[in-house]
Amino acid sequence: MESLVISKENFPELINTIIKSYRLFAPTEEKGFSGFNIIKDYLEMDLSYLNSRMPPKAILFNQTETLFLMEPGAKGSIKSKAISNEKSAIFAIRPCDAKGFRIIDPVFLGDVIDPLYKANRDNSVLIGLSCNQPDSSCFCTSFGDSPASGKYVDILFTDIEENYLVEVMTEKGKNFVNNFGRFFTPAPPKEIEAKNAKEKEAIKLIKRNLKVEGIEEKMDKMFNHPIWEEYAKKCIGCGTCTYLCPTCHCFDVVDESTLDKGARVRTWDACMFPEYTMHTSGHNPRPARMHRLRNRFYHKYSYFPKNSDVIACTGCGRCIRYCPVNIDIIELMNRVSEMEL
Ligand code: SF4
Ligand code: SF4
Repeated sequence: MESLVISKENFPELINTIIKSYRLFAPTEEKGFSGFNIIKDYLEMDLSYLNSRMPPKAILFNQTETLFLMEPGAKGSIKSKAISNEKSAIFAIRPCDAKGFRIIDPVFLGDVIDPLYKANRDNSVLIGLSCNQPDSSCFCTSFGDSPASGKYVDILFTDIEENYLVEVMTEKGKNFVNNFGRFFTPAPPKEIEAKNAKEKEAIKLIKRNLKVEGIEEKMDKMFNHPIWEEYAKKCIGCGTCTYLCPTCHCFDVVDESTLDKGARVRTWDACMFPEYTMHTSGHNPRPARMHRLRNRFYHKYSYFPKNSDVIACTGCGRCIRYCPVNIDIIELMNRVSEMEL
């Protein structure tokens, strides 16, 4: 890992230089929230955010994506969607959201490779920004992670007052930084210490903790426990928690057509919706909201770790912040953790 610095004075020029050769996604103000958008000028960027409402997963795994176009009839045809090779940089990803890609990667880049996700992933440089001020619902430290971790990004920026400390984490990050070498200088030890001090302060600000130790084994014994029904009575099945989660990755595939043309389209889906598991026969293996809510928590804390060796939750806190009925994953899972069985 290489540590560099860039002064805040030179930072706007760096961003405007990157924009000339990369499609640059960065947080911008979006109707009172923060969202990742392509920016054309440094001034469009808003770094006063705690975190974006929609995680940056939406950049690599698009909410709606045309897979191919169809022309029906005797002379009909199928035209694959051209895969873009456009180079992108995603700036100011929070460490928890970067971990979301680590969780989604085995789904799209495992035994069967999804060419659209792969192209987006390969062509994007992930540039993190440490959280100096975590939100009150953040809990990344529960998983042994840190609000200033560069583990899942190519490059990590940390605001250390007059400068940014820039940690180059991967070969891809190194190649990227080398393109803009004139903006960076090697980091003196005092700047590295300043980052470490910021990280310690940020960790202290995270007040919430989800007790993950032994939770998978505990859940193995709790499938029929009434706690799931208790929370399902509050849930309205809106799907907000799944749509905004950086690790949720389910989708539906539908054909859309008029008389003379059509398209096969992939759209995000959510296991909180009743149609999600509906069979063509009309049978639904998760007919009640309790089944769907229970599945969401089992998927994250039991099934996914069993299959992929990682809990499918990064502690971003979005499902707590945005659930309209205040269902709190930390509260629920800690009750599970502490349950005497
Ligand atoms: S956001 Fe809350 S109310 Fe909506 S589906 Fe999720 S748990 Fe239920
Ligand atoms: S389950 Fe909730 S806290 Fe965990 S990653 Fe998803 S949105 Fe964030």
